[in-house]
Amino acid sequence: MPQEKLILDGSRVAQDIKDRLYPRVERLAANGVVPCLATILVGDDPASATYVRMKGNACRRLGMESVRVDLGKDTTTEQLLETIRRLNEDPAVHGILLQHPVPHQIDERAAFDAIQPEKDVDGVTTLGYAQTAFGFADYPSCTPAAIIAILDYYKIPIEGKHAIVVGRSPILGKPVSAMLLNRNATVTVCHSKTKELDRIVGLGDIVVAAVGKPRFIQGGWLKEGAVVLDAGYNEGNVGDVDYEACLAKASAITPVPAGVGPVTIATLLKHTVDAAEKYGIAASES
Ligand code: NAP
Repeated sequence: MPQEKLILDGSRVAQDIKDRLYPRVERLAANGVVPCLATILVGDDPASATYVRMKGNACRRLGMESVRVDLGKDTTTEQLLETIRRLNEDPAVHGILLQHPVPHQIDERAAFDAIQPEKDVDGVTTLGYAQTAFGFADYPSCTPAAIIAILDYYKIPIEGKHAIVVGRSPILGKPVSAMLLNRNATVTVCHSKTKELDRIVGLGDIVVAAVGKPRFIQGGWLKEGAVVLDAGYNEGNVGDVDYEACLAKASAITPVPAGVGPVTIATLLKHTVDAAEKYGIAASES
């Protein structure tokens, strides 16, 4: 009998997260606090502009505030740091998101690390990453947290499974590897210098694609029945896995769009509400 496929519906998981946020946002409003996310976009990358717009719209739909700061493509590190310092000091701002990537002349690590830890709702600071690795982050990076949330929503076991993560970026591949390890998966992290990638991917019970290359993971590489989480988001609404071919082999798979993306945004909103509850009420009373 052919195995039934489970399409991991990110919109459903995101709605579940947002449904639980509405009453919290209302309670905060009753205390005079409107959770506020500040987004910073440097340059004119259209994909980044779309992500930032989506995040702002998602805030408004939930009754939250969003502040958008657009900086030109020639912005210097110092100018960006100054913007971040200003947002750090603004008591009405509870979360700060610097949209990655920034133009090459900017020291992205310095900019991420300038975000006050209490407002680091995307877990991009060195401290946030270290806390994620140790397993006690308030705000783990949103896409990795979204991947774990999808697995948990669908009650897909992580413990004892062999997870293959393709990609090792500081905002995605590395933190999701740490989070899977903390949940007792056996984790193999692959990157551009990995040899025999197809063979290694074929060992995975869980495969996370975080490569940034359209349709990169091939269906033929997968073990029969693997669970596939596609974090990729490339031009034309295409993920990092060859969806049709991977669907044929997988037992469960996230589509693109409506997979990891909406859960990432919902997680960002949740972290901003968490931050507003933790620090916003005290600030509004002082
Ligand atoms: P990134 O910083 O460009 O990192 C890509 C990673 O893939 C690197 O670690 C790189 O290895 C590895 N890689 C590149 N070519 C490879 C190859 N041929 N074989 C194996 N590994 C290879 O990208 P990112 O920011 O992590 O994003 C990854 C994907 O996720 C993108 O499609 C992005 O759009 C998407 N994304 C989605 C969301 C969402 O909400 N769904 C959020 C963030 C990102 P090296 O380290 O060796 O260079």
